[in-house]
Parts: sequence; structure tokens; C-alpha cells
Amino acid sequence: MKKSRVITLGKVKIGGGNPPVIQTMITTPLTRKEAALSEADRALDLGCSVVRTAFKHIDELGGLQYLVANFKGEIIADIHFDYKLAIAAIDAGVSGVRFNPGNVGGADKVDAIIEAAKKRPELAVRIGVNGGSLDKNILKKYGGVTWEGLVESSLFWADYLEKEHDFFNFKISAKASNVSETVAACRKIRENSDAPLHVGITEAGGGKHGIIKGTAGIAILLSEGLVDTFRVSLTAPIEEELRTANMILKSLGILKTGGEIVSCPTCGRTHGKVIEYYNRLEAWFDEEKWWMKPNLKVAVMGCEVNGPGEAREADLGIALGKDCALYFEKGEIVRKFDDQDEAFAFLTEKIKKHWGR
Ligand code: SF4
Repeated sequence: MKKSRVITLGKVKIGGGNPPVIQTMITTPLTRKEAALSEADRALDLGCSVVRTAFKHIDELGGLQYLVANFKGEIIADIHFDYKLAIAAIDAGVSGVRFNPGNVGGADKVDAIIEAAKKRPELAVRIGVNGGSLDKNILKKYGGVTWEGLVESSLFWADYLEKEHDFFNFKISAKASNVSETVAACRKIRENSDAPLHVGITEAGGGKHGIIKGTAGIAILLSEGLVDTFRVSLTAPIEEELRTANMILKSLGILKTGGEIVSCPTCGRTHGKVIEYYNRLEAWFDEEKWWMKPNLKVAVMGCEVNGPGEAREADLGIALGKDCALYFEKGEIVRKFDDQDEAFAFLTEKIKKHWGR
């Protein structure tokens, strides 16, 4: 598989074997500039320094300028239809602009955006093709939205930027709401271009459905080395997107630090509240921003016979017994408790100590 080239998005390097960069998108309109900054700061606080915002109308320019001036990470302006907005965003100092060249009104408008972008070498462009904004001629050719259409449109514009403008600081996204189609589109684009890929499953939904659908697509692409940057698009607050993004990286061993919980599925041998303890631990892990903490694997197991052994790879954990609980480290029993709640409290204290809290 072709390796992507490196591009620059402000201070962030994307592609060429750099770790996949997590992005999110704020939902506060730029007309509420202080609230928009506060939402972007929440993302930064969760470790996400690349934040996209919809820039819909020139009336929002003041809000965009305010965000660029005050946000400590990288701002990407998301543009549809009006090429002048892209130019205004570039002039306002954003680190990136995302637009679909097929819906800004013709090649001369694309030319104008790229000429503006070339004056700012650290500014990255994203050719953002998705099912909802595909060029009319492509829709006609393929009889609707297809992954082949997404690929044709993406590669046409990638070629155009490179050959007509000698411009290479761009990435490509071709997102469908369907996992298989998105995966097929990304594979085909990488076969034909070394531009970094921005990946995600668009309109994936929310809750468990959205998380599973987004994860299914992104995990396949990550395992094939096709993800240079990504967003888990969810009908949910940015916290949910960022937790999920980090969980995907942790599960695939790409994120080497951070906390991880292992717990048994429970069975007829289970003694006590494994599910409750697991849920409490997960909620606490999230509050603690587990992905920003030192590496630590924690186990919650339902029986003292198999628990410590089954969770031998965990750094520390508890195994519940009949009216008791064992605290163990690396499979070795360290302490026995007659009260399971006390054992759980002891476990959380040990985690806090490990994480320097
Ligand atoms: S650890 Fe014990 S309780 Fe949990 S699933 Fe395995 S055998 Fe059952």
C-alpha cells in the first residue's frame, strides 16, 4: 500500500507515518464567539488540538477571527458553496480549510481558494467529498451517491490541485454513511494518491449505534494503515467523540499510554456486583480522562478461582469471592477483603496513586 506524504496543518504534521491525528468539530455557531471558544477549549482539554468549525456566512467572520486569536490549538474552517468564505477564513489565519471543490461553483473558484492557500505554507486544505455534496455530474454519471463517484471526484480534484497549481499541502476525505463504501473509497484513493487521508463515517448516528458504526469503519482503515487523521462523527457532545476516538486507538494498540479496563463477562460462578463495579470504574475513568494518563490495565473479575489468573496481564484488579474480594497485582493476590465495596474503594485508591492523584 502506498504511504501518504506529510502535510502541515499549523503546528501539526499529518501523514507519512505520523500517529493518526484525532479531530473533532464544535457545534456552537461562530456568532456566539465566546461559547464557541469555550467548546473548542473543552476539546483541547481532552487532548484534541485540531478543531473544525462551520463557517457559514461572512457575518460569522468576527467569531472566526476571535476563535483563531484565542484558541491554543488548530482551527479548521468548514466551508460549503461560497468560495469567498474559504478565502476570508484563510486570511483570518485558520490552520486549515475544508471544502468540496465540486460545490463551490467551478474551477475558477477553486483556483482562487488555492492561490490564497499557497500564500500560507502552514495552511492545509482538505478536499472534503461526501455523499451529501457530490458534484452533480458525478451523481448523474453513477446514478446517485456511490463510492466510485466519491473516488472519482476526490482524485479529479487532487490531480487538479497538484498539476494545475503545484499544490500538495492537502488531504482528502471521501466519507459515506456506509462503512463498506467508505472503506472501499479510501482504499481506492490511497492506491492512486499519496495525499493523506482524513477518515470517518459520516452521519453515523449517536449512542451505541453511532459508536459501533464509526468504530467499525475507522478500525478497519486504521488496521490497513489508511488513516492519517480522523473524526468519530457522532450525534453527541464532543466528549463522546473524543473518548471513542481514543478508545479505538487504545484498543488497536496505537495509543500506547492511558488506562484500560478488563472485566469478565460474568457467568454462573460470579460473586457480586461485577457489572456495577465495572460501570462505576468506567465512569470514573472517563472523568479522569484515562487516555491522557500513564499506561495502566485494571481488572474487575467475578470469581476468585479464575479471576486473578484470567486477568493475569492486568497491572492490578479485584476478583470477587463469596462474601469477600481479592485484590491482585499482575495475577498475584496481594490482599483479601471481607467487604467487596471496600476492595473496590481500595482498587480506585491504588489507581489514583499510580496516576499521581
Ligand atoms: S472470571 Fe469467573 S465469574 Fe467471571 S466469567 Fe470467568 S469464571 Fe465466570
